[in-house]
Amino acid sequence: MMEVDTAQLEKITEREADYLVALYETSINRCSVSLSSLAKQLNVKSPTAIEMLKKLESKGLVKYLGRKGVKLTKKGVVSAEKIIRRHRLIETLLVEKLGLDVDTACCETKKFDSYVSFRVVELINYVLGNPVCCPHGKPIPPLRRGNK
Ligand SMILES: [Zn+2]
Repeated sequence: MMEVDTAQLEKITEREADYLVALYETSINRCSVSLSSLAKQLNVKSPTAIEMLKKLESKGLVKYLGRKGVKLTKKGVVSAEKIIRRHRLIETLLVEKLGLDVDTACCETKKFDSYVSFRVVELINYVLGNPVCCPHGKPIPPLRRGNK
């Protein structure tokens, strides 16, 4: 598995990140996701989704399969996991250390998580003692190391 460097990941916009996360979550147990279900999930029209998918494809993050839909590349999966890891670790911090309720923590986290560097994310992970689940009970993807 290739490692996505942080600099590269930081060039992913918030909206692009939404697409990666949506694709990641809908493609669990499936090889590809239909364009219409993706567009529906993101609350956009198909042409908007196609435009964004072309952008993501040019960055090597997704593979557009025409009628078969779309799937994340390995690089796309790694990026999505890093984005999800960041969100879930930050919301865990807000619940465990600041005492916010889960839904408030999730909302607050969405407002700023894309600005938090991955270096800080790993410090948060350390302070929290390597949690495996977020306060919603969803798994926190582990940090991928090296070239596996
Ligand atoms: Zn959340």
